[in-house]
Amino acid sequence: KPSIVWFRDDLRVTDNPALRAAVDDGAAVALYVLDEESPGIRPLGGAARWWLHHSLLSLREELATLGVPLLLRRGPAAVVVQETATALGAGALYWNRRYGEAERMLDAGIKTSARGSGMHSESFQASLLHEPWAVTTKQGGPFKVFTPFWRTVSGLDFREPLDSPEPGQGFFGWLPESEELDTWGLLPRNPDWSAGLAESWQPGSAQAHEFLGDFVEHGLADYSVNRDRPDLPGSSRLSPFLRWGQLSPFEVWHAQQRRRRELGDAVFAAELGWREFCWHQYFHHPDLATANLRPGFDHYPWAWPGGQGAGAHETATTLLHAWREGRTGFPLVDAGQRQLWHTGWMHNRVRMVSASLLVKNLGIHWQLGEQWFWDTLVDADPASNPANWQWVAGSGADASPFFRIFNPETQAAKFDAHGSYVGQWITELGTPDYPEPVVDLKASRREALDAYSTLTH
Ligand code: FAD
Repeated sequence: KPSIVWFRDDLRVTDNPALRAAVDDGAAVALYVLDEESPGIRPLGGAARWWLHHSLLSLREELATLGVPLLLRRGPAAVVVQETATALGAGALYWNRRYGEAERMLDAGIKTSARGSGMHSESFQASLLHEPWAVTTKQGGPFKVFTPFWRTVSGLDFREPLDSPEPGQGFFGWLPESEELDTWGLLPRNPDWSAGLAESWQPGSAQAHEFLGDFVEHGLADYSVNRDRPDLPGSSRLSPFLRWGQLSPFEVWHAQQRRRRELGDAVFAAELGWREFCWHQYFHHPDLATANLRPGFDHYPWAWPGGQGAGAHETATTLLHAWREGRTGFPLVDAGQRQLWHTGWMHNRVRMVSASLLVKNLGIHWQLGEQWFWDTLVDADPASNPANWQWVAGSGADASPFFRIFNPETQAAKFDAHGSYVGQWITELGTPDYPEPVVDLKASRREALDAYSTLTH
């Protein structure tokens, strides 16, 4: 009887315990389900859909070298997985765990019905270094503060990554037909805005491992200094590969750990810790993208489009569009937004500055910024995106203090001193075509602080 390995956010053949288990059983068949129907599953954004399309193409090739066919199916996962298992007469079903609430409920239901029909089913830890329920404060609750969280989690023993399985015996039985990827409509058409994404990335394990190797060898030594410089390739650019599981956190952890011992630098390791912390928060607060972790913020006078609010000098809708399109008149923010639109990625320092301008100077609700990033980032992550937006807004767990309002001009002078980053993205800089600032930084900062002081904490 064949075993099914159900791929989700783990589109890789290395360090994939579920794939390993299926291949060890004998004949393995891989399944990917595009589930846009089950309740509570957040629909993917545009850039993520592009990434997924190309990732599935490369996963199919990688699996083929192992003799594992990949079936593509669309529909509610509970139905599709069961149907596929029945059609194949599968004896076992394996997957790597995911941690969103809706996904966990779905998976639990599928496990129960698999058992009910006599099929072995088993799940594995592969996408996070820690299991969010297994790590608690001394009082037994979830962590709210990063430092003690990471002190605890980084003390765990992270297993060594698994190699890709050896090519198995292959599957020679009857296979239900796979859907054609091209019919899924994951790629943008009319207009096709993906040229910049394609210039910037090759989604798949090959580039993931190339970036990892390159970063560990050349980038890690100066990471703590260069990571804040958007004008340099100072950070790893591993985020989409981690998001989609083309790399596992165990692979990244151990690759950096070997080199880190020589360098004695823990800054990069702690960034992997922030990823874990975001997922810890999301696990314990499934409404992270839609509710302030600090309820005091429910009363902040946000300028929702069309509404009234702190810092809005034109209607919020106009300001929101100027921000999205990189026309705020603040070069660092505009460069970031254009980098995002063109490449599907934005430098972390610029994400913070850009988010701060939207939320604090333009007075626009962080959820609108979160939604834009969700749609445009290739690394758009259900946990890291809302957790970071809440961190910048001040409404989140262990958030930056509200009064820390980034000044995009001083940030640019500090981190892009020669202006090469802004120059790369804003060709009309210094000409009359470049807009005047859409907001007065000082006045809007004061308004934001006044609005904040009215909240009860
Ligand atoms: P590196 O500096 O090389 O870090 C290595 C890895 O650590 C990253 O690939 C990422 O997986 C993790 N990491 C680093 N910083 C953070 C962080 N603050 N929070 C969580 N994980 C982190 N990151 C996402 O992966 N997806 C998102 O949707 C996302 N949305 C963000 C929204 C805002 C408003 C902000 C301020 C940050 C957001 N981040 C998000 C975090 C961070 O900006 C990116 O992870 C980072 O820029 C990715 O580049 P890198 O791989 O070169 O990072």
